[in-house]
Amino acid sequence: MSESIDVAVIGLGPGGEHVAAQLAQAGLTVLGVEKHLVGGECPYYGCIPSKMMIRAANALAESRRVPDLGGSVEVTPDWSPVAKRISDEATDAWNDQVAVDRLIDNGGRFTRGHGRLAGPGKVVVETDDGTEEYDVSRGVVLNVGTSPAVPPIDGLAETPYWTNRDVVQVTDLPDSLIVLGGGAIGCEIAQAFARFGVRVTILEVAERILGPEEPEASAVVAEAMTDEGIAVRAGVEVERVEHDAGSGFTVSLGGGEQVTSAALLVAAGRRTNLSDLGLDTVGLDPSARFLDTDEQLRAGDGVWAVGDITGKGQFTHVSMYQAEIAVRSVLGKDGPWADYRAVSRATFTDPEVGSVGLTEAQAREAGIRVTTGSYQLPSSSRGWIHKSGNHGVIKVVADADRGVLVGGTTVGPSGGEMIGLIATAVHAAVPVATLRTMHYAYPTFHRAIENAINELEV
Ligand SMILES: Cc1cc2nc3c(=O)[nH]c(=O)nc-3n(C[C@H](O)[C@H](O)[C@H](O)COP(=O)(O)OP(=O)(O)OC[C@H]3O[C@@H](n4cnc5c(N)ncnc54)[C@H](O)[C@@H]3O)c2cc1C
Repeated sequence: MSESIDVAVIGLGPGGEHVAAQLAQAGLTVLGVEKHLVGGECPYYGCIPSKMMIRAANALAESRRVPDLGGSVEVTPDWSPVAKRISDEATDAWNDQVAVDRLIDNGGRFTRGHGRLAGPGKVVVETDDGTEEYDVSRGVVLNVGTSPAVPPIDGLAETPYWTNRDVVQVTDLPDSLIVLGGGAIGCEIAQAFARFGVRVTILEVAERILGPEEPEASAVVAEAMTDEGIAVRAGVEVERVEHDAGSGFTVSLGGGEQVTSAALLVAAGRRTNLSDLGLDTVGLDPSARFLDTDEQLRAGDGVWAVGDITGKGQFTHVSMYQAEIAVRSVLGKDGPWADYRAVSRATFTDPEVGSVGLTEAQAREAGIRVTTGSYQLPSSSRGWIHKSGNHGVIKVVADADRGVLVGGTTVGPSGGEMIGLIATAVHAAVPVATLRTMHYAYPTFHRAIENAINELEV
C-alpha cells in the first residue's frame, strides 16, 4: 500500500533538512528520509567538529607565539577537551534526536532508511522494519551528499585507515599521522593534529596542495605549514600502503622511498551518493558524478536537487542557499534563482584562505581579458605589526573590459573573514573605480586589499 504525500526529501544534510522544515511549515505533507544522521556530514563529521579541532589548535599555536611578542608561556597540549567538546557540544555523541524532533515540530514526518526513486512521483524507503512506498504529488528533493572517496591504491583497502568520519571521533592522538590528500580537509586536519604534537606528513599527488586555490595561496600555506614542522610532500606518487599491528602504516612512494606513521587519514576527495538512488527510473543518469540542475534547482520533472550533488561547490552555505531556492520553486514562488558567480569559501588553515569567484586561471579559461593585483600581507602595516603568524597574500582578479572584480583570494589571519569584502564586490559587480574610492580602516588586514586593487590595470 502506498501512502500519499506532497513532497519527499531524500537525504537530510543541511540543505535537505532546511527544505523539509520550510515546506512542512508552508503546510505541505513532507516526508524527510535519512539513512544515518539528520543534519548530514557538516555537524557530525565535517565543518563543525573539524573547526572545533582547529579552534583549539590555533589557541595552542597563538600561545607558542608569545615568546616572539610578550613573555613566555608553557604550552601542554591536551586533546581530551577537544574530543569531549565534539562529542558533547557538536554531535550529542553522534545522536540526531534533537534534529529529528525539530523536523517533526516544524510539521514534517520522518523515516529513517535508505530512500530511492521508483519512477515518476514514486519513492520507496528501505527501513529496518521493511519497505515503505509513497506516492508523491508535488515532487522529490534530493540532498544525498557525498562520502569520502578512497583511491584505488594497492593495499590501502585492507588497512585500518581513517576517513573524516573516524578522525572526528579520535579520543587518543597517535604519535604520527600521514594524510593522503592535501586538499582543504586534509590540510585543516593535518595542521590541527600537528599543533597537538603529532608528527604529520601530507602526501599530495598533484603538484601543489590546495589545488583549487590560487598558486600563491598554496605556496603561502605550504610554507607556513612547513615552518611549523609538517612535512608537506606534493607531486608524489603513492604506490602502496601496508599496515602492521606493531609498526603501523608504511606508504611506499615512487623512487623506492617509504614513509611510516601510526595512523593514516584518507582525505582524497569526495564521491557523490548517487549510485543507489533509482535515478534511472526518472530518466536521470545514475553514473553521473553530479546532477545537472537548472536555476531553480530542478534536476528533472518533479525532481529537485540541492547540496554537494549539484557540483556547484561542496559547502554548507551552498547547500543552504540552494535549499532556499528549491523551497521557493516547489512552492511555485518567484525567484531570484541561483547565481554562482560569487560563491565564496574558506579553508581554515592558519593562515586561513578565503576565496571567491574565479581564480586567475579560471578567468583566463573563460575568455575574460584578465588583470590581476596582489600584495604580500607581511608587507602591510598590520602584517608587520602582527609579526609572528603574519603569513598571507591578497590577490584580486578583474575583468579589464568590464572594470569589475571576478574573483579574489585573501590568505592570512582571518583570511576567511576578509573575503567578505571581495565577495560583496564580485556579487554586486562594484566597479574597481568605486573600490578605489573606499575607506579601508588602518591598520587592518583587509586594508591590504586596497594595495592589491591599486595594482589592477583597470
Ligand atoms: C571534514 C570536512 C570538513 C568540512 N568543512 C566545511 C566547512 O568548513 N565549510 C563548509 O561550508 N563545508 C564544509 N564541508 C562540506 C560540508 O560538510 C558539506 O558541503 C555539507 O554537509 C553539505 O552537504 P549536503 O547538503 O550535500 O549533504 P550531506 O551533509 O552530505 O548530507 C547528505 C545526507 O544524505 C544521507 N543520505 C545519502 N543517501 C541517502 C539515501 N539514499 N537515503 C537516505 N539518506 C541518504 C546521508 O546519510 C547524509 O546524512 C566539510 C566536509 C568535511 C568532510
